[in-house]
Amino acid sequence: MTIPSTSRSPAAGADRPDAPAPLGGDPAHWWHTTEDGRVECELCPRHCRLREGQRGFCFVRVRHDDRLVLDTYGRSSGFCLDPVEKKPLAHFHPGTSVLSFGTAGCNLACKFCQNWEISPSAILTPC
Ligand code: SF4
Repeated sequence: MTIPSTSRSPAAGADRPDAPAPLGGDPAHWWHTTEDGRVECELCPRHCRLREGQRGFCFVRVRHDDRLVLDTYGRSSGFCLDPVEKKPLAHFHPGTSVLSFGTAGCNLACKFCQNWEISPSAILTPC
């Protein structure tokens, strides 16, 4: 599968892990500012280039005050006990339970996604 990406300009900035967290989010790493003033995320091959207030394709990294912020840090989109047989583990403690959890956000767009209700859109719904 080919993941389309936007054009990429040379690295012109640096990530700023010491930046304070606005919006209650967590400062994101792996981004830089481009020559045209956008913030480009370097975390995945999509290389989203964002203007103020825009979210990346994954919907969990957002530009705020000229920084990239992860506003799902510490938020779970699902938390439950599952039978271990649902997991891709062969003959691992059959008949027992396993704790499952995940966070909002996905950088894919599979048409057959079984988690479409809790993937990118979950960030819009308060936990
Ligand atoms: S999809 Fe998300 S992680 Fe990937 S480049 Fe865009 S903002 Fe970054």
